[in-house]
Amino acid sequence: MVGWEPEGPDAYGFATFTGRVRVDRGRCRECGEKPCLATCPVGILVLKDDGPALGIAEEEAAQGKCIECLACELECQLRGRGGLVVELPLPEVGGISLSAAKG
Ligand code: SF4
Ligand code: SF4
Repeated sequence: MVGWEPEGPDAYGFATFTGRVRVDRGRCRECGEKPCLATCPVGILVLKDDGPALGIAEEEAAQGKCIECLACELECQLRGRGGLVVELPLPEVGGISLSAAKG
């Protein structure tokens, strides 16, 4: 999923402290329960245009209100939705890039 970058009118995203959250609302539109919203432990995601959006100012998310916990991505991916990724500069462990391992 590295380099996954939705484009066009369905693309949505916001900066986090060290990375970025990217959403493909084309996939969100077909996702009935929108489980990512409730799974955010700090409650910063709201429903907008059929998908998750920031319920706070973008500057606040970038300053650390998004705690980069990956819960939204895990919930989305574990349910097979594939509509959201949290791109973070993860380190290499034992020569294996954790970012690449996500792919
Ligand atoms: S779980 Fe995934 S596909 Fe469903 S609304 Fe959230 S980001 Fe979109
Ligand atoms: S990474 Fe965590 S804190 Fe940030 S939006 Fe997703 S669930 Fe919320």
